[in-house]
Amino acid sequence: MVKDVIIVGGGVAGFSTAIECSMNGLDTLLIEKNEEVGQIIKTSAVTWSDTISEFDLPNSCVKMRSNKILFNFLENYDEICVDFNREIMCTLDYQRLLQEFSKIYLKSGGELMLGTKVSRPIIRNDTVEGVVSKKDIRGKIVIDASGSDSVLCRFLGLFSPQMSYMGIGMEYELSNVETQDAMEFYVGSCVVPIGYAWFFPISDNSARLGISSIIGTPTKEYEQMIKSGYSLVLKLDQFMKNPKIYKRIKQAKIEATHAGIYPLGNPIKKAYRNGFMAVGDAAAQAGSMMGEGIRYALKFGKTAGIIASEAIQSGDISEKKLRKYGDLCNFHRKKVQKNCNLHIKTDEYWMDFMDSLRTAVKSKHEEAFLSKLREY
Ligand SMILES: Cc1cc2nc3c(=O)[nH]c(=O)nc-3n(C[C@H](O)[C@H](O)[C@H](O)COP(=O)(O)OP(=O)(O)OC[C@H]3O[C@@H](n4cnc5c(N)ncnc54)[C@H](O)[C@@H]3O)c2cc1C
Repeated sequence: MVKDVIIVGGGVAGFSTAIECSMNGLDTLLIEKNEEVGQIIKTSAVTWSDTISEFDLPNSCVKMRSNKILFNFLENYDEICVDFNREIMCTLDYQRLLQEFSKIYLKSGGELMLGTKVSRPIIRNDTVEGVVSKKDIRGKIVIDASGSDSVLCRFLGLFSPQMSYMGIGMEYELSNVETQDAMEFYVGSCVVPIGYAWFFPISDNSARLGISSIIGTPTKEYEQMIKSGYSLVLKLDQFMKNPKIYKRIKQAKIEATHAGIYPLGNPIKKAYRNGFMAVGDAAAQAGSMMGEGIRYALKFGKTAGIIASEAIQSGDISEKKLRKYGDLCNFHRKKVQKNCNLHIKTDEYWMDFMDSLRTAVKSKHEEAFLSKLREY
């Protein structure tokens, strides 16, 4: 039997695509390699608060909301905390979000296949016609939502890690800590040469504390980082020992560890082919400024779902029909590339950043500053 749509990967990108397809009446199959939905959490799961309403996410998935963003340039402890007087960011319960998504999806009639690893696409006459796992499964449209594994895109030659920066991150979920009512970002070369550290509250006395950087990118800065014995675990350890942080976490208990890699800063050139689309990290759609991926995974997942539904209903799954998706991806790609300045995040960059933020706050232009921050 041929499914209308097969989606590979049960992360946010996969579920938002699957829900859209299934709600539109398509015979939809989502395949996930893990035995349970949300079994492995790699993300810190902070997003802008309006993502909740834009994508109709269940409120039960929100852990903590905040009106404030704090930046601290740890080289000289310069700190700015901006109060937007409205809810601006939130931390999500990511596992719960995926589980809620799976309930919505199953209720709409979608089929979920867990514990099944897809190894490659089935291609005939230059068209993707299905996937290979334990057995061959045929579908009119196949969507790669397999995250940084990017299993189908790699096979199709659409993605290779060399094409992109690879973000790497690690965090602890800590209980018994002193939180502040703000999403806290820590920057400067003493924190990490390229990247930042964070302290995100998830309740009044628990938080996610972590650090992220990039790996494997052939830049001078990266080579220097490696030569100087750089290690993210050591950097996180140093960050936790910083007096500013240590006094707030000295009684803390580690409840969970989240770690992972994901491509950012250079979305793939072509995210579609005959009978095929790629969404989320599989298409390297995360932004470069903050390494934000969830909002884009939701956005492109939903969009791919709408375009897949139109294509199936019209009986045309050709590249020409799916090009609309490619055009939107290209628009996003250009913006991400334009704003991709990961390699210049030196201390001078962060000093300028702090100055611009301070000027924006003084002249009451913090909303404009925020819009820029959100733009990729
Ligand atoms: C440490 C860290 C912190 C982050 N923090 C944030 C943050 O605070 N805010 C934010 O917006 N973004 C953050 N990101 C980025 C964000 O998490 C990702 O961009 C987002 O989760 C991408 O979702 P996705 O659905 O595309 O991929 P994923 O969430 O990776 O989902 C892919 C799914 O595909 C499955 N899969 C993989 N291969 C196969 C296969 N062969 N067969 C079947 N299934 C397969 C996987 O098991 C997984 O369930 C962070 C990333 C990391 C690593």
